[in-house]
Amino acid sequence: MNNVLFISDLDNTLIGNDQALEKLNHILNEHREKFGTKIVYATGRSLFLYQKLTQEQSLLLPDALIASVGTEVYLDIENEKMDPDWANFLSQYWQRDKILEITHQFSELTPQPESEQGAFKISFYLAQPKAEAIIKQLESRFKQTKLDVKMIYSGSKNLDILPKPADKGLAVQFLQTKWEMSDANTIVCGDSGNDIALFNTGKPRGILVGNAQTELREWYQNNRTHYRYLATQNYAQGIIEGLHHFQFI
Ligand SMILES: [Mg+2]
Repeated sequence: MNNVLFISDLDNTLIGNDQALEKLNHILNEHREKFGTKIVYATGRSLFLYQKLTQEQSLLLPDALIASVGTEVYLDIENEKMDPDWANFLSQYWQRDKILEITHQFSELTPQPESEQGAFKISFYLAQPKAEAIIKQLESRFKQTKLDVKMIYSGSKNLDILPKPADKGLAVQFLQTKWEMSDANTIVCGDSGNDIALFNTGKPRGILVGNAQTELREWYQNNRTHYRYLATQNYAQGIIEGLHHFQFI
């Protein structure tokens, strides 16, 4: 057995069935002790909301945390220290003041609480039905100003502005390089549309849990390949099923 780089989304992928999670934690912990496997969580949550989750759920201490949809990578989670190499990379694409200068001109944008703002993420509330029009206007303003950002609108109310290359998938590739892990030894797990970047960056082994949302299932059906597996079981039990499928356990 080789060591593995195991990466999982949290909400509705790793989390959802406490009993199965306990079983998976045991498997991963043993794998880490025996083979030096690395465990990484990749989440849309901020570090603050991740820490809140760890008080409610029994999670292993990961070797790295990819937080705020890929804008932050932590190797030293306990000291809340962002990885400086990832931060340096993203900072080339990030001019916070210039972005704010533009967003201030839109009264429809309401800043989210401080805990949801990140070093490389500015988050607003933006209500329907005007959202689409506002996003279009923002897009052209960013383009005019040559700002290399992307916007993610989710849940019909949250608008995140991020550096263009900030996503879960590229953050995984960054860790693969750092730890010298190949796609064949990397396994990513997810349940929703914002995990597509995880599955679709390079060719890592992918496990879609059985409870995966429609948008991810549709994407899977249109992009079928031997290195992605749609589990029949849900949450952590689906991950265990996938680890067997790829013969990692
Ligand atoms: Mg999820």
